[in-house]
Amino acid sequence: MTAEAGPSSGLTRVPDLWFTDGSLIVRAENTISRVSGAVLAARSSVFQDMLSFPQPGSPTTLEAETFDGVPIVELQDLAAEVEPFLRAIFDSSFFMPPPSAPQLSDILAIVRLSNKYDIQYLFRRAISHLAKTYPTELPPFLEHLNHYPTGFESLKSTPDAHLQVLRVLHEVNALWLLPAAYARAAKCLPARLFSAASWPLLPEPIKLKLHLAHAHQARHIITIVHAVGGEPDTDTCVAPASCPLEILSVVTALLEQVGQVDMEFNFFDVKDIFLPSVWEDLGAPMCARCMAHRAQAVEGSMRTVWEALPGNLGLPPWEELKKMREAAMGG
Ligand SMILES: [Zn+2]
Repeated sequence: MTAEAGPSSGLTRVPDLWFTDGSLIVRAENTISRVSGAVLAARSSVFQDMLSFPQPGSPTTLEAETFDGVPIVELQDLAAEVEPFLRAIFDSSFFMPPPSAPQLSDILAIVRLSNKYDIQYLFRRAISHLAKTYPTELPPFLEHLNHYPTGFESLKSTPDAHLQVLRVLHEVNALWLLPAAYARAAKCLPARLFSAASWPLLPEPIKLKLHLAHAHQARHIITIVHAVGGEPDTDTCVAPASCPLEILSVVTALLEQVGQVDMEFNFFDVKDIFLPSVWEDLGAPMCARCMAHRAQAVEGSMRTVWEALPGNLGLPPWEELKKMREAAMGG
């Protein structure tokens, strides 16, 4: 929501970020907000330095120009990012901690700018909104893999949202969220990712990691087929005449699903094959003991793949990533 500041200025005011007693005008592109410079300086050491000792060539420059006699500080950030960032600072109800459900684009803007301008409480709050979708443990990852919480629907409709998540998490060095973010992004088929509007703008190291994620995903499918398709345990199987055939039919069904090129399939989706209802749909299930063994083997292979996920992407191991999270989030 914006309104014209004046026909001659070419600048547009953000109406609910226009406090008439504000001592500072923040400009991003051609939008301006009038806020309290003292509050900004109290929240952000970067703003404090900037407002005390404006440095030429710093990411922001304190312009000599004023607007209605109020000094203007111009940020080299997108207006679409600065607006939710300032709103989070000056409207306490706008960006509450979970379980409130802000838009993913606002969360990412606030993650990026609270990191850039060093507002820790806001950074932590924004990161906490991402923790459920990008967990560091396998069980919550499996639980939320095909779930798009309120505000995160754009992840379902466009690969660009996934690419934006990756860009921002790399920029702010929130590496512990990246294995899950890559695993989710790799659910988008390569053809879809590569034709995304923002793909050409993506930094090369992120493109490389996405290629790695896809390549490893193909290998992980072989891992799962191996876990599902082994010989039945003759000591425990109670239907040795039929179980091998049942196991073969499951492997075939799995491979058929993987082979459907227009299906967005992820190694971790294999867990759904082990829902009893799915087994019943596939025909007479194998004996209960074989079923339990297969389920265990699949779980074990998923844990193996999950443990290897950061290393496969060239990221530090989980243990180190979790320490980084504790350091950044204050325990
Ligand atoms: Zn059996």
